[in-house]
Amino acid sequence: MQEPHSLQVYKFGGASVKDAAAIRNLTQIVREHTAGQQLLIVVSAMGKTTNALEEIFQRAFTGQDFSPQLELLRSFHTGVAQELFGPDAGEASQLTTLLDELSGQLADLRQQAPPADTYDQRYDQVISFGELLATCIVARALDAQWLDCRPLLRTDHTWREGRIDWPTTEWNVRDQLPALLQRGPVVTQGFLGGTPNGQTTTLGREGSDYTAAIFAYCLQAESVTIWKDVAGLLNADPKFFADTVRFPQISYQETIEMAYYGASVIHPKTIKPLAVRQIPLLVKSFLNPTAEGTRIGDGRHEPLAPAFIRKDGQCLISFESKDLTFISEENLEVIFGALAQVRLKINMMQNSAISFSVCTDFSAYRLEKLLSQLRDQFTIHYNTELELYTIKNYDKASLQRLTMGRELLLEQRSRQTFQFVCRSLPVEGLI
Ligand code: ASP
Ligand code: MG
Repeated sequence: MQEPHSLQVYKFGGASVKDAAAIRNLTQIVREHTAGQQLLIVVSAMGKTTNALEEIFQRAFTGQDFSPQLELLRSFHTGVAQELFGPDAGEASQLTTLLDELSGQLADLRQQAPPADTYDQRYDQVISFGELLATCIVARALDAQWLDCRPLLRTDHTWREGRIDWPTTEWNVRDQLPALLQRGPVVTQGFLGGTPNGQTTTLGREGSDYTAAIFAYCLQAESVTIWKDVAGLLNADPKFFADTVRFPQISYQETIEMAYYGASVIHPKTIKPLAVRQIPLLVKSFLNPTAEGTRIGDGRHEPLAPAFIRKDGQCLISFESKDLTFISEENLEVIFGALAQVRLKINMMQNSAISFSVCTDFSAYRLEKLLSQLRDQFTIHYNTELELYTIKNYDKASLQRLTMGRELLLEQRSRQTFQFVCRSLPVEGLI
């Protein structure tokens, strides 16, 4: 039996709130699974809204017209609200206020032509509307309390990847949430935080899982459930790989490693706060809510099947010292310093006598900044449109399955993990 006051944290991602039918399904899951428990529901932006907002923002920031795209976003959200709550749902509601606020911000942005170095900061102010809009609709559908998480989840000023100030956040959450939760379910935004002076930050793309973990940590929740469109944590993404298998149980450690290598099923920062407070993480399918799913927690389990992780949009950068001296610690310090400064994350790296190679996510803007910092000191070559593959717990068959027919530009192998970088090939069916 659950304690009557035990708290569950549910996280619903974009696919689980992608239209009115999906939101109806969500309300049914909530009704059927949480009787007698307190419930905090973390929701991301609906469907592909975040991508759409990124495009709109990009247009506004660079002074281009964004009205057709914004109009689509507006009619999509009001359309869902009307389908759920009736034809007048859009009028004089919190939803319309938010949509108007978004339009206003974008119009200002386009007019101001702000300096390029404010891009990330401005991005957060605009992109956050996806979650604000979605939670506004979901809270109404559930007849639950709507909570703006931004004043509670305190971050620093690292735009687009706000770093949580844990003591302040924990204090805020413990101060505010218990009373609200006692009154009934609370719906809040994933992915968002706020700086000390009240500006919005985001926690990194797909960061809503992390939000669920932050709240669970602060409130010592019983468990966190992430509702997804797959059956649980799988050994590979079924969009790209055939014959995937579900892990019924898996340790925090294994999951952290998989997320680190780029498995897109759970945001990499999610696990640590849960592991610290021993809170189990359940991954379940919103299409089949009574099925077992995956339980991530402490403890031993059977050896796992090989896991395949694919990261596209990669860039391989190699640095050669111009005077043909060896790549020394001093040189590496300069390269790492510059990578950290332009915020390019290293996904894999390798050192040889006169050159040093790193594989990072491609960003034209960050790469250009890097080149301008290091061009004088190093000869730099780079390739884009690459893929990085990782096989965890590999064996002979899994190695062969992935490497066959590919030219490996960089490879690395440890006892458990095999990684390689190769060119993106046109997709012909599943791997
Ligand atoms: N909506 C955000 C994104 O698409 C956050 C999330 O989905 O977790 O990146
Ligand atoms: Mg999303």
